[in-house]
Amino acid sequence: MKTKIVRIEEENIDRQAIREAGEILKAGGLVAFPTETVYGLGGDALNGASSGKIYRAKGRPSDNPLIIHIAGMDYLPHIVKKIPEAAYKLAGLYWPGPLTMIFEKADCVPLETTGGLGTVAVRMPSNAIARALIEAAGGYVAAPSANLSGRPSPTLARHVIEDMDGRIDMIIDGGEADIGLESTIVDLTGNGAVLLRPGFITREMLEEAVKEVAVDQTILEGEAAGAPKAPGMKYRHYAPRGNLVIVEGAQDKVIGGINSRLKDHRQAGEKTGVIATDETAALYRADSVKSLGLRRDEMAIAKHLFRILREFDEEEVQFMYAESFEATGMGQAIMNRLLKAAGHQVVQL
Ligand code: AMP
Ligand code: MG
Repeated sequence: MKTKIVRIEEENIDRQAIREAGEILKAGGLVAFPTETVYGLGGDALNGASSGKIYRAKGRPSDNPLIIHIAGMDYLPHIVKKIPEAAYKLAGLYWPGPLTMIFEKADCVPLETTGGLGTVAVRMPSNAIARALIEAAGGYVAAPSANLSGRPSPTLARHVIEDMDGRIDMIIDGGEADIGLESTIVDLTGNGAVLLRPGFITREMLEEAVKEVAVDQTILEGEAAGAPKAPGMKYRHYAPRGNLVIVEGAQDKVIGGINSRLKDHRQAGEKTGVIATDETAALYRADSVKSLGLRRDEMAIAKHLFRILREFDEEEVQFMYAESFEATGMGQAIMNRLLKAAGHQVVQL
């Protein structure tokens, strides 16, 4: 399949290109597009065959459900059974934006889209290109991240092209994703709210609308903690091709510990990398040292993480070490992704 690549500016949207992309989606085709979190791989959410194509293009297990993206609150009642009070409150505060909510699904939502579940995940993105595209497609776009299953999520169109060129109909290049980590997911189908995936919208932010937010155990402890509630949580995610280990401890110990491990790898002739911060990057002796940004700048760290993991793959780095981050606020999302990327390999110093 020939993949058409178009560049669209968020500030000056090319309506003709959006119409064309919308027609592809309405006809059951696939279009990758920018959102404020990461790039999405879109298909018509109400067309089961189209969702099937998404799973195949990604190589994604078909029991790992998709998120339906809508362009306005008016679209929500059509795809869910009921809208709990908490959802109105959360939508009022954080939609459009990087928050996904889980509802009981309406009959019109095909099981292909929900990975066989009776519930459905819904999000209203804020990126103007995404919203225009969803409108043009008829209102309901299923869109997981536009990467091959298991790889780091794409934050640049270049990443989508790497993974999806020749596999989908169109890729819209809308520049770098603002946030760089996938949406926060909260389940509203039980009594109260359960945080299933941390993101830019933190637990504290959710608690401004919902009195108590429970956190699914598997988020930081890993799959060993029990059966995951969100099906996607059981799969290996975001992983670079080389081996990644997170090193925790006081800063000087971490630097010393990583450098001594790097020396062993170098002696064995292995290519090494470090995921560092601006404060420490100059102190590591690896083949490739990459800084996520200033340690206190959580936004920068979140935005750069997936790009850096992909860069190590391009450079064919075999052994990587990463500094660790405080798992509070947005740091919870950063550590959640980093731990998954490392397959939960952590060294305490
Ligand atoms: P992605 O689109 O790649 O960011 O992945 C979407 C994730 O949303 C899935 O891996 C699930 O963890 C979660 N999800 C989607 N639908 C549901 C649902 N109905 N119930 C629970 N989690 C869901
Ligand atoms: Mg994904």
